[in-house]
Amino acid sequence: MEDFKRSVAALPASLKTKAAAKRVLEAQLALIEAGVPGGDLARHAEFLSPASYAEITLERNTLGLCGYPQCAGAYNPATVGVR
Ligand SMILES: [Zn+2]
Repeated sequence: MEDFKRSVAALPASLKTKAAAKRVLEAQLALIEAGVPGGDLARHAEFLSPASYAEITLERNTLGLCGYPQCAGAYNPATVGVR
């Protein structure tokens, strides 16, 4: 991860933005799987904003999954927002 940060820091601004956007997309793709391991969630979380995390929740629900990445349960509208 430190290597990634160093290589991104060395890029021109336009490519930096592109690399950051790519990393967000990679995180989002990984976190729409059912039952993501906790370590994966932690590893990807630092690249996510509240808005990009909300997109994951929405995408998971659209796929019929619970919005929480570590959960392998099905989407249940009755439990949205309940903890
Ligand atoms: Zn769940």
